Amino acid sequence: MALLEQAVFPRERPGETLQPAVELLLQQLGVADAVQTAGFLRHTGHWVQWGSARQFSAFGQGATGPCRGFQIPRDVLDNLLLCRAAESGVQVLQPCRVLRVIRDRQRVCGVQTRQGDFTAPHLIDASGACSWLSRQLQLRWRKFSPRLIAHYGYAAGVCLEDNVFCGIEADPLGWYWTAKIGERRYHWTRLSFFPENQAQDIPPATFKHLAASGPVRGADVTWRVGQQAAGDGFFIAGDAAFVLDPAASQGVLKALMSGMMAAHAVIQARSTPWHELSIQQQYQQWVNEWFNRDRHKMCELYRAHPFPPTWLLNR
Ligand SMILES: Cc1cc2nc3c(=O)[nH]c(=O)nc-3n(C[C@H](O)[C@H](O)[C@H](O)COP(=O)(O)OP(=O)(O)OC[C@H]3O[C@@H](n4cnc5c(N)ncnc54)[C@H](O)[C@@H]3O)c2cc1C
Repeated sequence: MALLEQAVFPRERPGETLQPAVELLLQQLGVADAVQTAGFLRHTGHWVQWGSARQFSAFGQGATGPCRGFQIPRDVLDNLLLCRAAESGVQVLQPCRVLRVIRDRQRVCGVQTRQGDFTAPHLIDASGACSWLSRQLQLRWRKFSPRLIAHYGYAAGVCLEDNVFCGIEADPLGWYWTAKIGERRYHWTRLSFFPENQAQDIPPATFKHLAASGPVRGADVTWRVGQQAAGDGFFIAGDAAFVLDPAASQGVLKALMSGMMAAHAVIQARSTPWHELSIQQQYQQWVNEWFNRDRHKMCELYRAHPFPPTWLLNR
């Protein structure tokens, strides 16, 4: 088994705030102890200011106390996962940019890279929002929002306002997400419902006194789902399969879980090749159901926004 990653780690990626449900996946992936030992910040819910007075939305109670999420810098989490994969016997090639898909008739059977060709009975595409395999295979996407760009940045210093610990706040143009992600380290994301709004890449007022750490970046978070998440010789996981904007707050959970589901599907397809078509169909259905369920939740959330986006009204 081989994992091909084009970037040298550590590499920048947003998505530090993780839901409590991630803990079970981290256990199954064998990195829960390392995460516990590292002592990341944990939170019991989010502050929400969405029209009415600001209120705390708790995750609820678990068997041993309040459920808690994590604030884990992505460079740290992704490195833990990569090292774990290598320990488990996966051949990690990094940096290794995948250039072209190799097909035998219609079946995906490998990739071309600068380091040579790699063939395999199955390929899992986890290339993120660039959706490398969908592009290669010229698969279509269905879009459910106008073009949405989320801007985000990091800040360093001390912020005394507790609401920045982790929360979302609506305003006439969209929303801000702010989170304390480590000692003296904060993240913010801005989503404007109006892409033409020039001033959307400005940090929230609560972070004005903090020092910017790194540039403000933008990411295309248009709601979209790929036409095909599985086919002959391939499965597509994470953002490469579907994207909702970060208010859905579970991009990393989805990436981990769909990666695990895709791996499971590959194992099943290898042991019962005569069932491969139905395994592909089940995976495809699972991805579609997840996307549609979350899309409807996002529509409900945005309808409750004090200034709901007009593009939502006809949906
Ligand atoms: C502003 C913002 C804030 C967010 N905040 C949160 C949050 O708080 N919590 C949360 O859960 N989610 C959050 N998300 C969503 C989260 O970032 C994504 O859902 C998540 O990163 C998807 O993971 P992935 O593994 O699918 O893709 P990625 O993390 O993008 O990883 C894809 C990998 O594929 C590699 N790759 C791409 N092309 C090639 C190629 N040709 N060859 C080799 N390698 C390649 C890339 O280098 C990269 O390492 C946020 C998103 C944005 C934009």
